[in-house]
Amino acid sequence: MTHSVLAYYRFTHIDNPHDEVAKHKVFFEGKDVTCRIYISEEGINGQLCATEADAQKYIDWMHADPRFVGLEFKIHAYHTQAFPRMTVKYRSQIVALDAKVDISLAGEHVSPEDWKKMLENKDEDTILLDVRNDYEWELGHFEGAELPKLDQFREFPQYAKDLAKERDPKKTKVMMYCTGGIRCELYSALMKQEGFEQVYQLDGGVIKYGLQKGSEHWKGRLFVFDDRLSVPLNEKDPGEIISHCVHCGALSDLYYNCANVDCNELFISCHACAVKLQGCCSAECQAAPRVRAFENAERPRPYRRLNA
Ligand SMILES: [Zn+2]
Ligand SMILES: [Zn+2]
Repeated sequence: MTHSVLAYYRFTHIDNPHDEVAKHKVFFEGKDVTCRIYISEEGINGQLCATEADAQKYIDWMHADPRFVGLEFKIHAYHTQAFPRMTVKYRSQIVALDAKVDISLAGEHVSPEDWKKMLENKDEDTILLDVRNDYEWELGHFEGAELPKLDQFREFPQYAKDLAKERDPKKTKVMMYCTGGIRCELYSALMKQEGFEQVYQLDGGVIKYGLQKGSEHWKGRLFVFDDRLSVPLNEKDPGEIISHCVHCGALSDLYYNCANVDCNELFISCHACAVKLQGCCSAECQAAPRVRAFENAERPRPYRRLNA
């Protein structure tokens, strides 16, 4: 049965986020839904997978709420459930960030169509920033993008400060993108707080860009935070694979988390090497005491806890 995978967020004041969590759970009763939804006083950040019919019911239900009128849902089709379970939780922040950010400063939203044009007319005063993690970048990214070298995203405020010293913040145009757009809402505001005047964020992130523009100017695959792990930007226009197996160097777009539960490291492997090492990142891990049974599938699904 075809399922829909939804990605959405909105910053809006929510008086009683705990009530909102409870309302969601009641709504999901009896429906075939898996998800990861976080709700706080500042808004909602959600990813959800359901049968097409139930996904549509959820969209309609949300749109009937005055706080979520017009909320944009990015939708991918998938053949089965994409999340391990139904998770709806209160969080004090919907995007974890240590710094105080004034979200009203957020950079200008750029539609996929305009983003494409901006990519094509990029000059030396423009910097294209990928504000995702290195393991996401590894699988795919926009041509000419830069990945800030950070151990953790909490270092981003410092990165923005340093960049403002290296580059003229009045002259430099900053184009910024992330997976679904939410991270850029905060990070683009941070850049502006550091004095950058021309900051642009890709509206709806790479997901929306892929749905509307295919994989033009994108290299590789897109990392997603559900069981699919790696998807082409657009099913009809998948483009090339750029990532390599850590073991043998062959091109591969398959992510595995190490079968050794005590390692669990995420790595790219070709199918043949995954079979050889039974889903482990190394021979040491293969010999470890708590190794999960390898499931020989064409596309791996992430391992869960030991007994799941
Ligand atoms: Zn290999
Ligand atoms: Zn390992």
